Amino acid sequence: MAAPRLIFADQLGPHFDDGGPLLMVEAVGVLGQRTYHRAKAHLILSALRHRARELGDRVEYLHAEHYRDVLAGRDLEVVDPTSWGSRALVRELGARVLPSRGFVTSEADFALWAADRPPSRLIMDQFYRQVRTETGLLMRGPDPEGGKFNFDHDNRQPPPKGAVNLGLPDPFCPVEDDIDAQVRIDLDRWQAEGRVHLIGEDGPRRFAATRAEALAALADFVETRLGDFGPFEDASLLGDESMAHSRLSVPLNLGLLHPREVIDAVVAAYETGGAPLQSVEAVVRQIMGWRDWVWHLYWHLGEDYVRRSNHLEAQVPLPREFWELDGSAVRAKCLSHVLGEVRRTGYAHHIQRLMVLGNWALQRGYQPAELTEWFTNSFVDGTPWVMPANVVGMSQHADGGIVATKPYASGGAYISKMSDFCGACTFNPKKRLGEDACPFTAGYWAFLDRVEPRIRGNHRMAQPLAGLRRLVDREAVVDQERARTQW
Ligand SMILES: Cc1cc2nc3c(=O)[nH]c(=O)nc-3n(C[C@H](O)[C@H](O)[C@H](O)COP(=O)(O)OP(=O)(O)OC[C@H]3O[C@@H](n4cnc5c(N)ncnc54)[C@H](O)[C@@H]3O)c2cc1C
Ligand code: SF4
Repeated sequence: MAAPRLIFADQLGPHFDDGGPLLMVEAVGVLGQRTYHRAKAHLILSALRHRARELGDRVEYLHAEHYRDVLAGRDLEVVDPTSWGSRALVRELGARVLPSRGFVTSEADFALWAADRPPSRLIMDQFYRQVRTETGLLMRGPDPEGGKFNFDHDNRQPPPKGAVNLGLPDPFCPVEDDIDAQVRIDLDRWQAEGRVHLIGEDGPRRFAATRAEALAALADFVETRLGDFGPFEDASLLGDESMAHSRLSVPLNLGLLHPREVIDAVVAAYETGGAPLQSVEAVVRQIMGWRDWVWHLYWHLGEDYVRRSNHLEAQVPLPREFWELDGSAVRAKCLSHVLGEVRRTGYAHHIQRLMVLGNWALQRGYQPAELTEWFTNSFVDGTPWVMPANVVGMSQHADGGIVATKPYASGGAYISKMSDFCGACTFNPKKRLGEDACPFTAGYWAFLDRVEPRIRGNHRMAQPLAGLRRLVDREAVVDQERARTQW
């Protein structure tokens, strides 16, 4: 009899199933190793159990504390899993390992592309253009559709003036069932027994945990929000949790959807006149560009990338407000709101992760490795492979410029332009000194002051550093931010 294929919790879609016998393990001990967002733990268990119910007799479903407890000595096959730890495990178990799946490009494709490039020449946009050209996606012969590979210039608009939301229909929300009810009971029991440590609110479940739900979420995105995705990609409104974002990272990262399915759906919408190119290209770049890119970098940059990267010498431990997702204790409206949303849902859209949470952590010098762990555990779509390049590289510039050529630091003016947060805040984004000085604005200058020696050689930072040198109240701003206890 053929060895069963071990299916991990992020390999739940049809593209991980070739028709043979399957084996799944619900390992509570793995959930207990970290303090996870409760909605994330719920999603993983719900997705595993729904898949097992769908598969019926085709799957052997085992309960265990740890994988090894029930897998040691078994003959197994596996699609190469998605973390350094799980890859070591399946090799230790002697499983027959098939190449990984679930991304547009293969690890072999990337290895070939990266072979003659040093880390400083790994540029996402070049990789993306090559994949576009090779796949022919959004191409007219050798040329990109619309004459450009990138429509960022037309996108990145602020929210409509005076709007409290984008006026779009509510995004797809699944209907919970008996499996979700049982998951909640089990999580309560394990929490009471001290077997798991959870944070954040659980429920109602907001993200797809089954293939049918994932397809419904994709169709809903294409029909109701894709058109606005590009223009408002970087905008935030207090009254709009999702803006025009897809909320598909959860089903993508659970392996319920193949990224190519999402890309094909948005490209089909463009080709039938259902969505503008500027939005469709933006989604294709996020998925075929960024998502594949950070996946490949996870392997390419090595297992110790997070541990060894701290270019800006950031040593401040993450504060309690982050660990406890306690936005209520924070006065800065933008940060308070986003932390509160993460507590409530386990989700925040990209610009909130990058320009509010990441920017705040960068300015304050939070330890990149701690921050990576926090993001991984606190977000419903957090995975070991997605975080290193996004957090250490893009948002904290801790690798010194491999992922992003300059630190993504900005003051309150950017947040004020791209959101309605500042109007509801006790601080003033235009002020860097005084009682109501915005901690993002003042924090920006204090950050530049602290890291100046480390970024002096970066020509993209020449202008901000010239501004810092011209700042008449530089010392006072730095002293104020050093002494700031209330934010
Ligand atoms: C600090 C930080 C932390 C992040 N944490 C995560 C995370 O835990 N899990 C995660 O999947 N993504 C993460 N991202 C990337 C991105 O923010 C999320 O994928 C996105 O916000 C998920 O929401 P969405 O599905 O509505 O995305 P949309 O804005 O609708 O984008 C469509 C899809 O593109 C993909 N995508 C877009 N940008 C990225 C990126 N930079 N890296 C990888 N995929 C991308 C995702 O699959 C996403 O579903 C992070 C980015 C930053 C800067
Ligand atoms: S004023 Fe500053 S702290 Fe307040 S919401 Fe705006 S950017 Fe955030």
